[in-house]
Amino acid sequence: MPTAKPDWSRIDHVLLDMDGTILDLAFDNYFWGQLVPQRYADARGLSLEQAYAELKPQFRAIEHTLPWYCTDHWSRITGLNLKQLKHEVRERVAFIGNSPAFLGAVKASGRPLWLVTNAHPDAWQIKLDQLGLRAQFDVIVSSHDYGAPKEHPQFWDALQAAHPFDRSRALFADDSLPVLRAARAYGVGHVVAMRRPDSTQPPREIAEFDSTDGLGDLLPL
Ligand SMILES: [Mg+2]
Repeated sequence: MPTAKPDWSRIDHVLLDMDGTILDLAFDNYFWGQLVPQRYADARGLSLEQAYAELKPQFRAIEHTLPWYCTDHWSRITGLNLKQLKHEVRERVAFIGNSPAFLGAVKASGRPLWLVTNAHPDAWQIKLDQLGLRAQFDVIVSSHDYGAPKEHPQFWDALQAAHPFDRSRALFADDSLPVLRAARAYGVGHVVAMRRPDSTQPPREIAEFDSTDGLGDLLPL
């Protein structure tokens, strides 16, 4: 599936999701799908199957709400220190889709580069610091600052109030289809879906948005 190249003459602001867009979602899939259940099982003397059976319904029940993205919430539920656990495995944090070249090109073009994430501040700080990325971004926004996830219109209103931008001349890339739908409904002019958020998985077919295998494929600007 080819990447539809954006018309960069019509784009002033670049807003990027973190996990699955700039960074490899393989980290998060490993963390939540293997490491947390294993440590939960170890701490409670359960089998891995028992741990999955206890945890899965709790994850499903609040998917796409703010607590789902909240390390404090899951630390309470699991009894594990998830901030510490993320720090322990931080060397697994990695880029995906030639994103460093894309970040560099956006910076070089002089366009404001914003990180717009649902990740809890504990999580984004560990990841950006691991890769030395913090200084790349002109604005870093976690939906936890606004009390609503990116899936919700309230998030976009709060973002606009805090950091005004011309939505029709903004590009926003994300790997979550519900988030992309909310961005489009808000009026973001250029919405791009990531087909391959996890390097260990094959790309997905996405029909409803312009899409790409990696941010590097949106170059040259
Ligand atoms: Mg994401």
